[in-house]
Amino acid sequence: MSKIIAITNQKGGVGKTTTSVNLGASLASLGKKVLLVDIDPQGNTTSGIGINKADVTNCIYDVIINDIHPKDAIMDTNIPNLKIIPATIQLAGAEIELVPTISREVRLKKSLHLVKHMYDYILIDCPPSLGILTVNSLTAADSVIIPIQCEYYALEGLSQLLNTVRLVQKHLNTSLQIEGVLLTMFDARTNLGIQVIEEVKKYFQQKVYQTIIPRNVRLSEAPSHGQSIVTYDPRSKGAEVYMELAKEVISV
Ligand code: ADP
Ligand code: MG
Repeated sequence: MSKIIAITNQKGGVGKTTTSVNLGASLASLGKKVLLVDIDPQGNTTSGIGINKADVTNCIYDVIINDIHPKDAIMDTNIPNLKIIPATIQLAGAEIELVPTISREVRLKKSLHLVKHMYDYILIDCPPSLGILTVNSLTAADSVIIPIQCEYYALEGLSQLLNTVRLVQKHLNTSLQIEGVLLTMFDARTNLGIQVIEEVKKYFQQKVYQTIIPRNVRLSEAPSHGQSIVTYDPRSKGAEVYMELAKEVISV
């Protein structure tokens, strides 16, 4: 059975892209067929997995705006089971271009349904906003993973995110679930990180993944080499924790 998971948080820099790439690569290396969908105009997942944007013929923009078949936008990565629908800067116009279009919230859902049967997991890397691209992602998804950075303002903005999730559940996608909440960039040297973990666990309870992603310099280096941690440094702590997370995701 295949599952579409949106990786979302309207805050930037919380680990959405790092999680999309490395959870995707870890699931693929465990034998799952995975499709990454980059729906952030910054295209960090696209470049982070080694796609040269100059080589992109069709991107997610063409799929949701120009009705290109998603099969014609899917590209290979250096991991056999891991494919990607890339994003380019072209997507920056989509928020505005979608406004006057018919069924603008369900475009991604309709497209991904054409290829859903080909994959075990489709991971959507969302932009840092609660705009129409994120609403498309939440409408297309079976569930969401919310990465939360272990820092002082960790919970700030979460009520807006959860409110958006509820609105989508009410009007567009009644079966949308919270897959899990992922604590990221944990620094064991500070008390603050531990406080944040406690606070987030109090709020989300059993939804919080056992796996906590620590700060790991190899995770931050890998994208500039166009690689996931799985190929960049499979023996690093970063690779180990994303593999643990992949096993947790598979186990539910
Ligand atoms: P988002 O997609 O939510 O904006 P990113 O995944 O791009 O966040 O992460 C923001 C920055 O932090 C990036 O430079 C990334 O390489 C770095 N980063 C993310 N997770 C970690 C981690 N666990 N350890 C070290 N650096 C990280
Ligand atoms: Mg990102």
